[in-house]
Amino acid sequence: MTLATHLEKLEGHLKRFRSSGILNLIGGEDAPGAGGAFDTRSPVDESLIANVARGTAADIDRAAQAAKAAFPAWAALAGDKRKAILQRIADLIEARAEEIALCECWDTGQAWRFMSKAALRGAENFRFFADLAPGARDGKTLHSPDHLNLTSRRPIGPVGVITPWNTPFMLSTWKVAPALAAGCTVVHKPAEFSPLTARLLAEIAHEAGLPPGVLNLVNGFGEEAGKALTEHPDIKAIAFVGETRTGSMIMKQGADTLKRVHFELGGKNPVVVFDDADLDRALDAVIFMIYSLNGERCTSSSRLLVQETIADTFHARLIERANNIKVGHPLDPATEVGPLIHKTHFDKVMSYVDLGRSERATLAAGGTRVGDKGWFIRPTLFTNATPDMRIAQEEVFGPFLTSLTFRDEAEALAIANSTAYGLTGYLWTNDLTRALRFSDALEAGMIWVNSENVRHLPTPFGGVKASGIGRDGGDWSFEFYMEQKNTAFALGTHKIQRLGA
Ligand code: NAD
Repeated sequence: MTLATHLEKLEGHLKRFRSSGILNLIGGEDAPGAGGAFDTRSPVDESLIANVARGTAADIDRAAQAAKAAFPAWAALAGDKRKAILQRIADLIEARAEEIALCECWDTGQAWRFMSKAALRGAENFRFFADLAPGARDGKTLHSPDHLNLTSRRPIGPVGVITPWNTPFMLSTWKVAPALAAGCTVVHKPAEFSPLTARLLAEIAHEAGLPPGVLNLVNGFGEEAGKALTEHPDIKAIAFVGETRTGSMIMKQGADTLKRVHFELGGKNPVVVFDDADLDRALDAVIFMIYSLNGERCTSSSRLLVQETIADTFHARLIERANNIKVGHPLDPATEVGPLIHKTHFDKVMSYVDLGRSERATLAAGGTRVGDKGWFIRPTLFTNATPDMRIAQEEVFGPFLTSLTFRDEAEALAIANSTAYGLTGYLWTNDLTRALRFSDALEAGMIWVNSENVRHLPTPFGGVKASGIGRDGGDWSFEFYMEQKNTAFALGTHKIQRLGA
């Protein structure tokens, strides 16, 4: 496939959205936004993709009512029937994976080489949770001397899912699939900057036989539709992926209705390279984990901590490779880094280039815009940074790597743990004992030793500190979307206190 064939196919897929806009889907019906519509534009060239329904509190209320009405039947449906529907959703995602990937690239600026896989990963997420659906309600039998306790799980009710613009399709499936498998109904509010594939997901789910009202889609802005969703009394929980600051706002907004929250937030993840590591593999992983997905990735290794004995050679190789990365049109199969999502984000990333200079770190690669159309930035590297610098503390969320050096393990650990975040950590060493010791002390929810981020679906995914609350993956997802219930049966053996006898 070439860029030209991709563009031609994309045009075919976008045609209907250009004429009718990207509508909400509430109770199984297309619906315009009560707030009118807003434009969504491509980060590639700022061209208009389509008008998008602007959802308001009124639309959220209708969607929440639809989700509430659909909940009893969906929750009561036998697990194997839910499984079959989720499997069909996975089949249809696979069948339309190319369309999903093309739309995702155009809408978000993410490169085709990654998005073509992310679409299939979305199908995998549905298959994985489909298989777990029949056992979702299973509990335990717990003995006590005088009682037999039976525990079981029930879906918590209608839930809200709020997703960001980076890899939105994959992240949406990661939330929607377990919620549906658990027996919850869903109101999904996707990011205003990337509405295309959320619409495709909702359409696919209905085509696969999901009953009306089980998955509802309301587009719109965070402070409007998003806020209303977090405040709605019929929405029992909010699964949110996005910025740490937004997570804290959502917690406040949800306080009056005692909302259960699950947060996957920002990160400033360290990759620690010791001088005994396999440096070729470490270099590949460092580059992949900061520059793939345009660096717009919560798990990106945005802080490199390299042992000072190898720093000069490691940096020299890193600079050469960073300068060689192909920045270009996201639909060109050769492209490795595409444009950032929108101008405000581009300005934010560029402001960190200015900041890095003013903090007197060394701009060793990139730091410049590519072309004058679209939001392309050259892969950027700052060396000679120190732990107190803002470029070493704050999430930039772009192809922007800050490198620091350390003398020994103790110093590396102190630097690694010195930020507000704690999502992931990456260790490169061939000393097993050190890897065990270091990973035990590292403040992060997920750590990879001698590896880039490779997600194994049954494992717990989530962060500590300012990086999140709760875990996704396997049974951990069900812990969030379900309530535990305990029923104690007396065995007739214990004495009941007799008052007034
Ligand atoms: P964001 O917080 O600006 O927006 C995320 C979503 O929240 C959007 O749908 C937005 O409309 C909505 N929103 C905004 N304000 C809201 C409010 N007051 N009430 C309810 N909803 C509101 O985040 P973003 O810029 O879209 O995404 C980038 C961020 O997401 C980065 O910080 C990144 O690290 C994080 N992220 C984390 C993970 C993870 O797994 N930890 C994964 C992906 C992205």
